[in-house]
Amino acid sequence: MKSLSILGATGSIGQSTLDLVRRQPDAFSVEVLTAQANVDGLAQAAKDVRAKHAVIGDESHYAALKAALAGTGIEVSAGRAAVIDAAACGADWTMASIVGCAGLEPVMAAIKRGGTIALANKEALVSAGDVLMAAVRDHGATLLPVDSEHNAIFQCFERQNAAQVRRVILTASGGPFRQLSADLLGKVTPEQAVKHPNWSMGAKISVDSASLMNKGLELIEAYHLFPVTVDQLDVIVHAQSVIHSMVEYQDGSVLAQLGSPDMRTPISYCLAWPERMSAPVERLDLAKIAQLSFEEPDLVRFPCLRLAKDALAQGRGAPAILNAANEIAVAAFLDKRIGFMDIPSVVESVLAGYDAPVPATIADILALDSEARRRAAQQVEAVAA
Ligand code: NAD
Ligand code: MG
Repeated sequence: MKSLSILGATGSIGQSTLDLVRRQPDAFSVEVLTAQANVDGLAQAAKDVRAKHAVIGDESHYAALKAALAGTGIEVSAGRAAVIDAAACGADWTMASIVGCAGLEPVMAAIKRGGTIALANKEALVSAGDVLMAAVRDHGATLLPVDSEHNAIFQCFERQNAAQVRRVILTASGGPFRQLSADLLGKVTPEQAVKHPNWSMGAKISVDSASLMNKGLELIEAYHLFPVTVDQLDVIVHAQSVIHSMVEYQDGSVLAQLGSPDMRTPISYCLAWPERMSAPVERLDLAKIAQLSFEEPDLVRFPCLRLAKDALAQGRGAPAILNAANEIAVAAFLDKRIGFMDIPSVVESVLAGYDAPVPATIADILALDSEARRRAAQQVEAVAA
């Protein structure tokens, strides 16, 4: 039996993971489930999979969670520190699926226990890639990529032939606004932005997919996960989301991983790794799909991808600043305080005006993150005024 924990159990990735776990009750024992505010979702999930411990991040929900789990024997705790402690419970396998840089400290706590971490929380890696990957090495942890593109690359990347890799090509669906004119992009609503054509996901990543910031964050993520240079990373728009990414070798071979767009495939790959398990996903019917299309990404209509590429090339604190400013801008867009095209403007102005010191520790990154958030919030005020 494998012991596991899910950080962010009530989210889209958390729920997909729970779905797989529920189907094989004898294979897994659940140590901890965490959530930020959804008491009912957390309590239900904890009862379903007989978790030993349920943790709610927002302390004000402690009594409600305690009441919801009364008589079950499931331990209950609350607060930010409890989430981080829970991440360090020493489970064999941890799903890191908290959204945003808020997941960074919990991920680090899990890494320090040296188990296997299935990483969905890309913002943690974008903000703290060097520090996080050094901790993985120092503590003998195993980091498995959940993001569909990185999971595909992980499946196609021959580590023993890394010197023979010419390019890593991330596919992008292009999001719901792939064909929208620049004029109309300024007028889109949060409701339209979160309606992704191929994937069902949390609100923040859905907006990132619509702006192509998601693909930019993923370039930075790939840079840290695989032994490649910035110049070896490429993006191609592939609207059907059937090819999840590719690795091109010097001999001309291009290896790709294909599948229906369902996160339960990469999650089950991480759950069973280095073996495989069955997953309840729709089988790929290529004759029905009939055609796969490809096009270059448009960096003019989608400046977020350009900003992320620049931040990756610049290195130092730039990716953490990019991520923090984007989190603030996306939240303001979802709140209808700024427009869709204000997202790249806010991010660009924070990046341009902040010459941050090079972060060397998690504390440095958190300080930089919070200063970038403060500046982004100011920009949002200016735009919204
Ligand atoms: P979501 O919004 O559906 O869920 C987020 C989870 O994090 C929830 O359980 C929530 O309670 C918890 N959470 C939110 N804020 C928190 C905080 N401050 N402290 C502690 N917990 C907090 O998001 P999601 O779509 O499941 O995405 C989760 C992560 O996985 C993101 O980093 C996203 O980029 C990545 N990811 C998601 C998908 C997908 O298909 N949904 C695909 C690839 C990568
Ligand atoms: Mg992805």
